[in-house]
Amino acid sequence: MTMFIINIILFISLILKLKCVPVTSKYNMIKHKKIHQNFNKIDELKQQIIIIDIGYSFDENNIQWVGKSPFTITKTYNGTNNFLPFYTFNDIKMFDYSGTHLDAPYQFDKKGWKVADIPLNNLLVPGCLLDMRNETTNNPEFLLKPEHIIEWENEYGPIPNNSVLLINFGWSSRWYNKNSYLGLMNDGTRCHFPGISKEAAEWIIKTEKIVGVGVDTASVDAGATADFEVHQILSSANIYNIENVNLNNDIELPAQGFNLIVMPMKITEGSGAPCRIIAILSKNNNKSDDNNSSNSNRSYNVFSNANREQIFVPVLFIVLLISWNRNKKY
Ligand SMILES: [Zn+2]
Repeated sequence: MTMFIINIILFISLILKLKCVPVTSKYNMIKHKKIHQNFNKIDELKQQIIIIDIGYSFDENNIQWVGKSPFTITKTYNGTNNFLPFYTFNDIKMFDYSGTHLDAPYQFDKKGWKVADIPLNNLLVPGCLLDMRNETTNNPEFLLKPEHIIEWENEYGPIPNNSVLLINFGWSSRWYNKNSYLGLMNDGTRCHFPGISKEAAEWIIKTEKIVGVGVDTASVDAGATADFEVHQILSSANIYNIENVNLNNDIELPAQGFNLIVMPMKITEGSGAPCRIIAILSKNNNKSDDNNSSNSNRSYNVFSNANREQIFVPVLFIVLLISWNRNKKY
């Protein structure tokens, strides 16, 4: 009997050891090994992808909303000292919705995420592109309707989960002409450019698949808006906007099959922030599929290793029981 109790104590210790320590450390080892392997493959990966910068530089050409502070960069120091052959620093100042920027949901909803609250998972996302350039050619007051998005889905398939919807109104080509870009009328205070309709904004929040909306104009609302209704609707669903996106690049984005890295300046209390946006395309258009399959393989392998140990413990328990029964017989 004493031997049996000792066996049981040993068995419980073994369970604790196998269940807690080795499974976790083995998982970490596998995870870290994979990460190192992936880092080694970055150069290889770069051969397979196209990276496009879809933001504007911040300089004297920057555009901000009418009447707001322009972007300024003031040289505070530019020279040398006893230790450095060249040394410089500047003061910068800007309106927070200036140039290529992100509107946090907090902009129009006090319960919404501020810039620093937006999860990274919502900033590294699949992208979709609606090309509305034909519709805006003779209609600068054009409004995107739900039918346009539904038509896009009929042609290209469902919008992926957790994605950003970009709309190309053809406005990026006007960036270097502020009056044309904002559609300023004679008084210079009211803007005129295309935007998203209230109905389309409501359609977007109902899908629950879109985490952000991007436009190549200064606002997701049309320029003539007075109440920023689209901003309010999207903010209420914690959807962010990216505005003044540069869609006039040498390489055009496809309708789907690309990813976006959206990196606003992480301003803790920010309701908006200047933003760097990178689009990533696969040269063979299969990058997303490859990533998904490798992720699912990784999860599957880790799960299998854990399973092996979970099976081993009950088997050991049965062996101990058999050995105890044999001892009783003799
Ligand atoms: Zn905005």
